Amino acid sequence: MNALNGIGMTSQRTRERMVKRVREQGVRDEKVLAALAAVPRHVFVDEGLAHRAYEDTALPLGHGQTISQPYIVARMIELLLEGRRSLGKALEIGAGCGYQAAVLARLSEEVYAVERIGALLERTKENLRKIREFKVRLKHGDGQLGLPEAAPFDTIVLAAATPELPEALLQQLREGGRMMLPLGSVSDSGAQVLCRIERKPEGFEKTLFDAVRFVPLLSGVE
Ligand code: SAH
Repeated sequence: MNALNGIGMTSQRTRERMVKRVREQGVRDEKVLAALAAVPRHVFVDEGLAHRAYEDTALPLGHGQTISQPYIVARMIELLLEGRRSLGKALEIGAGCGYQAAVLARLSEEVYAVERIGALLERTKENLRKIREFKVRLKHGDGQLGLPEAAPFDTIVLAAATPELPEALLQQLREGGRMMLPLGSVSDSGAQVLCRIERKPEGFEKTLFDAVRFVPLLSGVE
């Protein structure tokens, strides 16, 4: 049932309908839509939820975490890519089950992904192996510290919300690079917005986009 190509609710046709909905919601970058169409999301969700893998919704992935909504993944990547050919060297904070990392891999030269929950990192490893995506380099750690050994990055994307910009991540952004994150608190429901930071020679430029809802960025590892 979890076969790569899938049948019925996990088929390529079902996936294409999901991409069509994402397009209808306003994502126009063909490169992003093609990447979304190429990643079999049903491989990344629990087997019991595979029939819902191509609904455009967030789904639980255990440990109180969620696999992100495809539209939001696409929207963040589109805003990161705007006017650029590639995401270059990318860092994802909060790999979860690896879905977004797999999408990023199709649009980047290099991808690093950090996850603080060891059990989820193992799932990511397994899922990426299943779809034969070997480009993503995974690290178990607290992503708030970034990945100094691989910095600087052209792209940094956070899959968890924080009320403050993590200083270490700003420092690991290359000049001309971009960071995307859900900015805001989690307790204050509905108070998060997508925030894009661009590192310019004269400093950091911040642009706010859609209201979103993400799980919180937490400290430490487990
Ligand atoms: N990128 C995933 C979404 C995962 S949800 C997808 O494609 O669907 C957000 C993830 O961020 C969770 O797995 C959570 O454990 C992780 N996370 C939260 N705080 C973190 C931190 N400080 N460092 C690394 N990962 C973190």
